[in-house]
Amino acid sequence: MIRAVFFDFVGTLITKAGENITHQNIVREVLRRAGRSDLDPIKIWAEYEEESSKLFRELAGKPYVKIRDVDTEAMKKVADRYGFTVPEDFWGISIEMHAKYGELFPDARETIKALKDLGLHVGIVTDSDNDYIGAHLKALGIYDLFDSITTSEDAGFYKPHPKPFQLALERAGVKPEEALYVGDNPSKDCVGAKNVGMVSVLLDPDASKQSLWGNCDFVVSKLLDVLDIVKGLNEDL
Ligand code: CA
Repeated sequence: MIRAVFFDFVGTLITKAGENITHQNIVREVLRRAGRSDLDPIKIWAEYEEESSKLFRELAGKPYVKIRDVDTEAMKKVADRYGFTVPEDFWGISIEMHAKYGELFPDARETIKALKDLGLHVGIVTDSDNDYIGAHLKALGIYDLFDSITTSEDAGFYKPHPKPFQLALERAGVKPEEALYVGDNPSKDCVGAKNVGMVSVLLDPDASKQSLWGNCDFVVSKLLDVLDIVKGLNEDL
């Protein structure tokens, strides 16, 4: 019996396209404050993404360090390359732009509400700093829809470490096999959830991760399909 559904955040509830626009606007604001209109924001953004991905790849499954520090370090690496300064309140700019440009998947709200109508616990398990995820969910107007929000900051480790998943299960008061985890990253989300005994669902709208589908119990192309999976699993009992 499935009693809880947990979601990853970036790429699962909010779109990667919106996240890219957000990050491009962070870079634009950083360059504006540095007075560097000579630099191409898209080029700087691409380099920032590369530095940031490199740092986060190394942190997968490792003990939590503040994401604000990792993101700021990535920006500083690029800034040093071009000789500009990263503003003191870089993180404030980041939170502000995420609130402004973050974009929910069109069926996210409907899916969450439908799952709650079935009487399920609906939560988030995310590699995030607490202040970031709280502000972001409030800006999207969906903060109050969730029964629990579990971050790497709460758990002390990044996915796919078992700790964030186990803490979420504890908070919901459900056994692993009673919980579904929905994410867009086969290695971090599917593997992490399955390792603690949860049922894993991959959101892969354009089927671009087909070579890694084997890591996941289910693959869906849109969030609303999660409803059918839950109903199917609960009907079989
Ligand atoms: Ca994700």
